[in-house]
Amino acid sequence: MQENFRWHLGTEMRYAIIADIHSNLEALTAVLDDIEQAGGVEEIWCLGDVVGYGPDPRECIAILRQTTNICVAGNHDWAVIGGKNEVDISEFNPDAANADQWTAQQLNDEDVEYLSNLPLVIEKDDFTLVHGSPREPVREYLLSTGAAIQNLSYFETQFCLVGHSHQPIVFTCDETEDCSARYFLPESPVSTKSGSRLIINPGSVGQPRDGNPDAAYAIYDSEQQLVRLYRVPYDIRSTQEKMQAHGLPVRLAARLSYGV
Ligand code: ZN
Repeated sequence: MQENFRWHLGTEMRYAIIADIHSNLEALTAVLDDIEQAGGVEEIWCLGDVVGYGPDPRECIAILRQTTNICVAGNHDWAVIGGKNEVDISEFNPDAANADQWTAQQLNDEDVEYLSNLPLVIEKDDFTLVHGSPREPVREYLLSTGAAIQNLSYFETQFCLVGHSHQPIVFTCDETEDCSARYFLPESPVSTKSGSRLIINPGSVGQPRDGNPDAAYAIYDSEQQLVRLYRVPYDIRSTQEKMQAHGLPVRLAARLSYGV
């Protein structure tokens, strides 16, 4: 009885961290199935770019609305709803702009409302969630240790979660504010025990760019004090066929096969 009681009051929590879904329903569904099979995940933390590029913006928004989650805004989320905070489709390359114009035409009022209500920054427990970086939440790509160091003074929590670059990467920063970077791989989880400040990118669900086409996401386990990366194969062909049917740019569909 005592054990049971403690179990219910326990502080153990598991959170799934997803980023850059980009209207890829097959990838999102595969990731959510994987999360469900892993079990025990209380909440999904979403780092933005729910839409853009892919063929199923409305379906992806609908799924997120039905899931227990917190989610910040990405640059594509704001671009497709008409230039919120001066993020505009015109700043994208032609393929991305094309896809985002198509996306904007698909959304209904509720979808637009959902996207426009996404906050820029969320603080949750020891984590700050942003799309790009704490310094420039929807614009900056955090890919260098120099940028990581400069961003340390822009968030107050011990850890920060970012997306935007679609690269699974971990920055580990010590008290002297010196940061090192490494690829975030499934076989090498990140410990949150060491006292270091961490900036973690879980990679992209819907358009990986690290040479691995499998969908990427992470799980933070607060009892084990670990953040672990997962890669999930999904039906890429089906996403590509839908993109083709909608007349979305060929290069955007092709890149999914290679994870670039
Ligand atoms: Zn993105």
